[in-house]
Amino acid sequence: PDYSKGAAYMNGTYVPIAEARIPVGDWGFTHSDVTYDVVHVTDGGFFRLEDHLDRFHRSLEGYRLDPGVTREEMRTILGKVVALSGLKDAFVAMLSTRGVPRVYGSRDPADCDNTFIAYAVPWVDVIKPEVQERGAHLLVAQVPRISQNSLDPTLKNYMWRDFTRGMFEAKDKGFDTAVLLDSEGYLTEGAGFNVFIVKDNKVITPDRGALRGITRLAVLDLCPELGLEPVVGPITFEDLMEADEVFTTTTAGGVMPCARVNERIYGNDRPGPISARLKETYWRKHKEGWHMTPVNYA
Ligand code: PMP
Repeated sequence: PDYSKGAAYMNGTYVPIAEARIPVGDWGFTHSDVTYDVVHVTDGGFFRLEDHLDRFHRSLEGYRLDPGVTREEMRTILGKVVALSGLKDAFVAMLSTRGVPRVYGSRDPADCDNTFIAYAVPWVDVIKPEVQERGAHLLVAQVPRISQNSLDPTLKNYMWRDFTRGMFEAKDKGFDTAVLLDSEGYLTEGAGFNVFIVKDNKVITPDRGALRGITRLAVLDLCPELGLEPVVGPITFEDLMEADEVFTTTTAGGVMPCARVNERIYGNDRPGPISARLKETYWRKHKEGWHMTPVNYA
């Protein structure tokens, strides 16, 4: 088999990514009843693998999913999909779907055998080079983030109807992507990324309504050695407009400086100096083996 485009694990076996398919009856498909996590591999090493496994297990427990795979077995499977693919730079996903109900048409989530799926695919920068260069343009979308009382934002999920609406609004208005406020007006996050503002020497990210991103954590960790003060606290729309700089963080691209939010243009309409420094430091630390777990390709 040719694993060069990616390798997957499902139903207890390893297959090329193109052959990994789920049945239409799986609630992951029919009910968006799935959780997942994505860790990246750079130069043959997993970045903060244990943090991703911790978060994945919190998500599994939060959604009452039990695929019957131990953490140790997951580690082995994740290493194996990367090794099979031979990729030195990859996205590695772990997923668990509710599965197919034992009685077709059942409305009972307890009637399903939960799945565990993992795959490794080649790393791609999700943000276009020209956007990296000029700094992203964000729109604060009209749609509020779904209530935290209904959906815990710290558990990873694909219930992205609000983000998707926001992203279409952003595209329609000529922006790259959207960030959402909660129904009380506080900044939360965007579709697949956390948000930060820089004000004076403070690097601030929301304390509510957002995933505890691993890249977010990495940036908070980096601040002190760069002489910056990391802050986790509430951010209002006014704070966002009055910030010196804005940037976003995600596994799929790292630190992304922003040049504009709505009508506001930051600095000289380019990536701000602190955002650029955090981005450079984040990737330089990767080269130095920071929080890296080597993949066994043997
Ligand atoms: N928020 C959401 C909703 C996400 O899906 C992601 C992507 N995993 C993030 C934030 C960023 O988290 P991380 O840095 O762990 O990729």
